[in-house]
Amino acid sequence: MTSASDERRVLDAVGTDLYIGGRWRPSSSGSRIDVEDPATGQTIATVADGSVADGRAALDAAVAARAGWATTPPRDRGEILRRAYELMTERADDLALLMTLEMGKALAESKAEITYAAEFFRWFSEESVRIHGRWSVAPNGATRLLTMKQPVGPCLFITPWNFPLAMGTRKIGPAIAAGCTMVVKPASATPLSMLALAGLLADAGLPDGVLNVITTRATGEVMEPLIKDPRLRKLSFTGSTEVGKRLVEQSAEQLLRVSMELGGNAPFVVFDDADLDSAVDGAMLAKMRNIGEACTAANRFHVQAGIAEEFTARLAQRMSGLKLGRGTEEGVDVGPLVDAKQRDKVDELVRDAVDRGSRVVTGGARVGERGYFYAPTVLADVPADARLLHEEVFGPVAPIATFETEDEAVEAANDTEFGLVAYVFTRDLQRALRVSERIETGMVGLNLGVVSNPAAPFGGVKWSGFGREGGVEGIEEYLETKYVGIAL
Ligand code: NAP
Repeated sequence: MTSASDERRVLDAVGTDLYIGGRWRPSSSGSRIDVEDPATGQTIATVADGSVADGRAALDAAVAARAGWATTPPRDRGEILRRAYELMTERADDLALLMTLEMGKALAESKAEITYAAEFFRWFSEESVRIHGRWSVAPNGATRLLTMKQPVGPCLFITPWNFPLAMGTRKIGPAIAAGCTMVVKPASATPLSMLALAGLLADAGLPDGVLNVITTRATGEVMEPLIKDPRLRKLSFTGSTEVGKRLVEQSAEQLLRVSMELGGNAPFVVFDDADLDSAVDGAMLAKMRNIGEACTAANRFHVQAGIAEEFTARLAQRMSGLKLGRGTEEGVDVGPLVDAKQRDKVDELVRDAVDRGSRVVTGGARVGERGYFYAPTVLADVPADARLLHEEVFGPVAPIATFETEDEAVEAANDTEFGLVAYVFTRDLQRALRVSERIETGMVGLNLGVVSNPAAPFGGVKWSGFGREGGVEGIEEYLETKYVGIAL
């Protein structure tokens, strides 16, 4: 368990004003936003409530730094990212505590996120020196074709509360590597981790103005003018599909380059030939990582009828053995959900499924009077019309439905507007590859409960968005291709 003095120390170490042009400054209105601990509902810090003018100042700073950063040698950009990776690793304990205080998840999970987030800096520190062009001879031999890659220019990054750092570093890492400058807007519920990261990047030697952070309560009002500002060249958003669609509309005005990492509704498909031990282990990871508050979280389980009872019993046993509590306490597996709204939405979806005939195998209710806790829940016999099978629950709830044939499994998995990730458990190699091809998602976990990896292209199709983060694809989002035709 962490001490109150440790908590105070990490909170006091964070800059809580706006970070613009390498300086911390209060918002022009002087007003502040409360940040609360979701385990207690108490305010633990306040951050600046940025205005439209503050937003413009942040973009001014990114625009002013643009030319200098674009021409900084790639090796120097990579070395700064490498140093930032090392600092994140050194400061992982404090960053994890800060994240748990504002977001709720258990310390071990926060620590895992810091490691994951830092890996994007390590990966893109290596990619910064591997930005290649091309030289070729025109088919008729008369001219030469030179193709070069250049930074897209100033970027705006809007990130969610569920992974307060990793959703930022997988945009910031490639942008820094490519030579882009940026304005970052973290979620209002969890701004402290990103503000701490801004300080860390300055310590790593990132020049003033390359990264600017703005926090605001008037989110739409402050973001829209930036998205419509002709000086902005790229928007990358991670968050809900609803907000993402609105931002795509706004980005049409300047024909911005756009990446959208949106909601998910991941199916977890278990065939009767699967290794049941590894399917249950995978289910625990895919469902309970981040308390189920992950876009990649298994949202619904489709299990072949012959093994459904055993799978359900084993999963329920593991889920009911998890310890709930404040994320800073020893031995806690599951922290609170981020706020009352999120907890009430989870409960509403569970009630709907139960009203339609689902059976509660374990959990099924909120826990305690203080904080936003919800019991790890397994529901069996969930009917096809239950809202849980169609909407993102974003909580520790595993609804289980059954299927008979492979075709039925694929049809059920694809019966959604979303297409981020699917999990498939089977020991039959041909079936595994056949189903992976037929499933309409950007990613598939084959006998694997977590697909996220900085070296892999993360992203979705359909309502889960477009663009890829990580892998060799990740840096392409921040590069323009220019072709020069040459007469010899
Ligand atoms: P959200 O409500 O869409 O918020 C995400 C971010 O957008 C926050 O910074 C929020 O700011 C900002 N925002 C809200 N309204 C805005 C507007 N009108 N204009 C500009 N920005 C606006 O989503 P969330 O509840 O924080 O995050 C959960 C969602 O993110 C889930 O659907 C999850 O699946 C998705 N997600 C997707 C991925 C992926 O990679 N595909 C990863 C993680 C999460 P405020 O906080 O100030 O409202």
